[in-house]
Amino acid sequence: ARAQAMEIAEKPDVTYADIGGLEAQITEVREAVEDPLLNPEAFEKVGIDPPTGVLLHGPPGTGKTMMAKAVANRTDATFIKMAGSELVQKFIGEGARLVRDLFELAAEREPAIIFIDEIDAIAAKRTESKTSGDAEVQRTMMQLLSEMDGFDRRGDISIIAATNRFDMLDRAILRPGRFDRLIEVPEPDIEGRTQILSIHTRRMQLDPDVDLERIAGDTEGFSGAELESLATESGMFAIRDGRTEVAREDFDAALQKIERDDSPGTPVAFY
Ligand code: ATP
Repeated sequence: ARAQAMEIAEKPDVTYADIGGLEAQITEVREAVEDPLLNPEAFEKVGIDPPTGVLLHGPPGTGKTMMAKAVANRTDATFIKMAGSELVQKFIGEGARLVRDLFELAAEREPAIIFIDEIDAIAAKRTESKTSGDAEVQRTMMQLLSEMDGFDRRGDISIIAATNRFDMLDRAILRPGRFDRLIEVPEPDIEGRTQILSIHTRRMQLDPDVDLERIAGDTEGFSGAELESLATESGMFAIRDGRTEVAREDFDAALQKIERDDSPGTPVAFY
């Protein structure tokens, strides 16, 4: 059951080139995670400790998991992912044991990157969540913090966490020696959206009338994940029409479909 709760990849196939926008964030992640793994001497020479844990925060589907995977790819590290919600267990001590297993596994598979998604599930302020008032959830969090205190950062293990609910977090986890490097991952701006669209259409044959910048202009508020679905939907419209080339009308139809599906109370897709 324990192994099932974790997602392990020897070397994830995501690279920085697969991520649209987020240049500044990628630079920060590289400095905080990649440099300490690839070039620990630089930190020793300068006489500083690298950050202990990195916290990525921002809306859903903006590329947080992709960034963690891309660092693992670049550093040839094993990527070990665990969702915070999986650490909330029924039986006493079970969450804490999963945390111990997580760090043990990472030590066996060094170099390794531990990625804890939805960290808010175990690290919410007591006032914000029912579960965080739970003594068992508190114990799980304490176990995580003690593992972080205990591990020698010069060992080849890095820890990255992510949350969509930064406001909800118990500030105790952000202290020095814990998640002490915060990186905000925002919704993409128009340039970011254009880049993300070109990434997700790079294997598609686009009709010359497709203007990705115009589409980026029409998709304010879309996340990377939503732009990816837009590209996929457009391809589906082309297939339905018996074409292999994807045209402007397909993107328009896909956009309409997505907007329709999104607005509550309207009938769902009727193509
Ligand atoms: P969550 O908070 O919901 O876990 P996340 O921020 O971790 O979301 P990802 O899992 O990294 O989001 O992104 C989901 C998918 O959306 C990716 O697999 C990718 O296809 C697409 N995507 C998201 N952001 C980007 C981006 N910046 N560039 C390219 N693709 C992106």
